[in-house]
Amino acid sequence: MSNPDVIVVGAGLAGAAATLKIAKAGRRVRLIEARTRCGGRGYVKAYGGDGPELEFGGAWITPSHHRLRALVAEHGLALRPRHAITNRLRLGDGPASPSDVTAHERTIARVAADSILLKKGITTNERGEALTGISFRDYLDRLQCPAATRAIFSAWWTVSGNGAHAHVAASEFLASCAYDNGLAEGMINFWSDTVVPGMGVLAERMIAASGAETVFSDAVTHVAQDTQGVMIATGAATHLAAACVLALGVNQLQTIRFAPLLSPAKSKAITLGHGGRSFKLWIRAEGVPVGMLVTGDGSGIEFAFAERSGEDGSTYIVAFGLMQEPNRPSDAAWVRDQAAKLFPNARVLSHDWHDWVDDPFARGTWVAALAGHEAGLEAANWQPEGRVAFASSDYAPEQAGWFEGAVIAGEAAADAVLGLR
Ligand SMILES: Cc1cc2nc3c(=O)[nH]c(=O)nc-3n(C[C@H](O)[C@H](O)[C@H](O)COP(=O)(O)OP(=O)(O)OC[C@H]3O[C@@H](n4cnc5c(N)ncnc54)[C@H](O)[C@@H]3O)c2cc1C
Repeated sequence: MSNPDVIVVGAGLAGAAATLKIAKAGRRVRLIEARTRCGGRGYVKAYGGDGPELEFGGAWITPSHHRLRALVAEHGLALRPRHAITNRLRLGDGPASPSDVTAHERTIARVAADSILLKKGITTNERGEALTGISFRDYLDRLQCPAATRAIFSAWWTVSGNGAHAHVAASEFLASCAYDNGLAEGMINFWSDTVVPGMGVLAERMIAASGAETVFSDAVTHVAQDTQGVMIATGAATHLAAACVLALGVNQLQTIRFAPLLSPAKSKAITLGHGGRSFKLWIRAEGVPVGMLVTGDGSGIEFAFAERSGEDGSTYIVAFGLMQEPNRPSDAAWVRDQAAKLFPNARVLSHDWHDWVDDPFARGTWVAALAGHEAGLEAANWQPEGRVAFASSDYAPEQAGWFEGAVIAGEAAADAVLGLR
């Protein structure tokens, strides 16, 4: 193989966007991917091996994800609107006493105010309390809210901050609340569509359209550079090019050795990693109306939405909780018990999922900054170093954590390497 102009590492949405833009500019690109497939944390597969094609990684896009929507149209894919929420149910007792009701309403208003301030870039509220650098647990303690309010926030945390309450930054939750005027329960209103047949297929088509040379099933282990070019080593080969885009998330970079070393700020952010550790399950059940949304009592499966009906009249429920003790998302009996708690009339037929935390090429779910280390994941910390540019949704300049952020970061990294002499 003759040397390409640019090597892109990672065939997720960030890598696909970078590859396409660099190839469109007339440069020869080689894409190296550790897995056998494109899409990274965007992963569609047949439920249970022979069921409908479902998204086991990321799924929803919002109305403001314009770049992604344009790519979906450009590459001949379609959008599927999310099923309307027909019924909302909260497990557990609501606020018990009149004073609890007052405290509950006051807390909702305080969180809304904090989230709007944070959206404006203001990191201290009118009480002088910090909105960044504080974990979700400490933030909840500070609110001194009733147990029922805490359980509601905990449920929405599994689809926002999605990590250990004691370690992940409360700002992840507040940022998600800000989508709908500060209301935790409003964030789902912005999950408007999914891509058909799947986000991984979009990445695949973008890469095919680029005409890039592709290398699959080969993980990059070393990245070295000097003023002339870069050398990328995998388990199987060594690749040379004038420049490189590492389209890898912050946890994925932990397995790569750099020469020379990266900046201290990047090295620290990589060592710390991010704390995204939710599980996402699909549960096939009977007796559950499509459109029903149930939030839990602060334990086990905390969030479940009956997302679509199967051809046989069964329902596919998408469910989230935290990967922590005593949760057992791979255990059919545990999932059945949890589903019975959330949907007492359901008959669970089966479940399926992908373990992103244990996945060696993901090492976590969507990005969740650790409290006190939020700055390490800001885009300002991820500027190119020499001939190596970085691209991931994890540290995107906009829409971080979303597929849209991956595309924006990939295209920005493409511009950076195209600007190199
Ligand atoms: C369960 C779950 C639910 C989510 N829900 C949503 C959602 O509803 N909406 C939304 O917008 N986003 C969602 N996300 C987040 C979204 O999936 C990610 O933000 C996005 O896919 C990240 O894209 P990326 O290109 O930055 O990284 P990735 O998709 O992780 O791509 C990185 C690629 O690099 C490869 N790789 C890793 N290590 C190496 C190596 N050493 N050598 C070569 N290749 C390597 C990986 O295999 C992967 O293909 C969700 C994520 C998960 C896990």
